[in-house]
Amino acid sequence: MKEKGNISIHTENIFPVIKKFLYSDNEIFLRELVSNAVDATQKLKRLSSLGKISGEVGDITVSVSLDEKAKTITISDRGIGMTAEEVKKYINQIAFSGAEEFVEKFKEAKDANEIIGRFGLGFYSAFMVADLVEIQSLSYQEGAEPVKWECDGSTSFEISEGNRTERGTDIILHVNADSEEFLNKSRLEEILTKYGKFLPVPIKFGTRTTSEPDGEDEEGKPKYKSVEVDNIINNTSPAWIKAPSELKDEDYLAFYRELYPFAEDPLFWIHLNVDYPFNLTGILYFPKIKNELDIQKNKIKLYSRQVFITDEIKDIVPEFLMLLHGVIDSPDIPLNVSRSFLQADSNVKKINTYITRKVADKLSELFKTDRKGFEEKWNDIGVFVKYGMLTDDKFAEKATDFCLVKNTENEYFTLKEYAAKVKDIQNEKEGQVVYLYSTDTANQDSFIASAKDKGYDVLVFDSPIDSHFVGFLESKVEKTSLKRVDSDVIDQLIKKEDNDQKLTLTEEESASVKSIFEKTIHKETYQVEITALKEDAMPVTVTMDEFMRRMKEMAQNGGG
Ligand code: ADP
Ligand code: MG
Repeated sequence: MKEKGNISIHTENIFPVIKKFLYSDNEIFLRELVSNAVDATQKLKRLSSLGKISGEVGDITVSVSLDEKAKTITISDRGIGMTAEEVKKYINQIAFSGAEEFVEKFKEAKDANEIIGRFGLGFYSAFMVADLVEIQSLSYQEGAEPVKWECDGSTSFEISEGNRTERGTDIILHVNADSEEFLNKSRLEEILTKYGKFLPVPIKFGTRTTSEPDGEDEEGKPKYKSVEVDNIINNTSPAWIKAPSELKDEDYLAFYRELYPFAEDPLFWIHLNVDYPFNLTGILYFPKIKNELDIQKNKIKLYSRQVFITDEIKDIVPEFLMLLHGVIDSPDIPLNVSRSFLQADSNVKKINTYITRKVADKLSELFKTDRKGFEEKWNDIGVFVKYGMLTDDKFAEKATDFCLVKNTENEYFTLKEYAAKVKDIQNEKEGQVVYLYSTDTANQDSFIASAKDKGYDVLVFDSPIDSHFVGFLESKVEKTSLKRVDSDVIDQLIKKEDNDQKLTLTEEESASVKSIFEKTIHKETYQVEITALKEDAMPVTVTMDEFMRRMKEMAQNGGG
């Protein structure tokens, strides 16, 4: 048997186009070919479980191997294999039915992911790195003959008798001169691990040495010997695909360490598991946030049926959820479309809403079942909750119940509790309640002390996100104004007759002290006031008008 043919009638040679266009992302050839090997293996397992396979399934490990001298990479599986007819159908025809469309549309596509898959070109991504691709396959079907397919990157292929004696498929890539980086063992293992770390079928990449117990020496101490074992690069049943009831805290933590070997343990996690109206599994972890100015986004990894796709999940989860870590696995997220299409996709919208609700529910549950623990973690959780409330209305609605504020006594309140606490005492005029807050408790302690003296409570809003959150609270909590403690504010709020301290300076003395200060500081930005204060308070205070302060802060935050 020997047959030659032409792949495409209408198009010229599309391989140079694929190669050139996809060059930047060419490592995904391995993802595509290994995924195909895994698919073929899964199909075989399914057929076997249905009793449709005679004989043993045997070892189903997929093997990736490298021959540096021959400059080949081989991906071998023991899946269902292909007959000559199937090779013609699935490799020649199906893939190339999309070719014409591809050539027309490739100009629009922004990255390789948009093309691969969308045009059914998964297999053909091999030509990004190889100038000759060979398939050796033997179908599981009884009486099947081994088949060989060969294509040199032009539009003509050749089918002939193959050499496989065992069921399954080898894809042999003769790596081209531009892609020799993939002939490096550690580079290849790196890519394989990146995409295949959690694939559902064992993936072997060469062997590795390990030590094994080997009896005892003369003194009775255990002896070890070196042995070569298969180097399996993946964990075939990662935590997220298991039922939450099967997993203990230790399992979730162990999985977190598997994902982020160098990170500190997370605070808590949410196991996502839904199959209607879309299919999605995953585990989201709340990390410890050490420094909120240095929060790392894009830590969530997106998988599709255990194949790693990307860690750029920008349009798939709401912005504030990007602070979380973990894994989302969904075959229902369209992976091969442009970003704008993704945002408009109805599944993606539903997934967004679902995740947001799950996160809010989890926080609410923690708050209700363990308030003390929740307060202890508030430093880390708070940034996230505030960010969520500022950017997502639906989340804000739910989070109002568990969003906490802290006062200078280190007491925590929900917004409702706090409103009830201060509504009678800090009621200024016409039902307007004033919330006082400090942005810097160390430097504002004299004002805090004065405010407390008058029976006022002072909140602490001292993190970068708080400057935005203050404005948010003001607009959301009815009839409330928030004021930062300074002498200006205290003078306005606290009834003057309560202040029994007398100014000991004469009017001229006050005026000259005031002018001395006004000469040295910027008069338009700061106000100088000479007033009598409590004995333990600072003798002189310079304050900045609240409006000026916020303006300045906004300017510093780059227009915030
Ligand atoms: P897709 O995987 O999206 O179907 P591909 O271009 O990756 O598209 O593969 C085309 C087809 O070729 C597959 O659907 C499958 O029928 C066949 N195929 C590819 N690789 C293998 C393999 N290793 N074993 C069996 N069949 C394969
Ligand atoms: Mg494929």
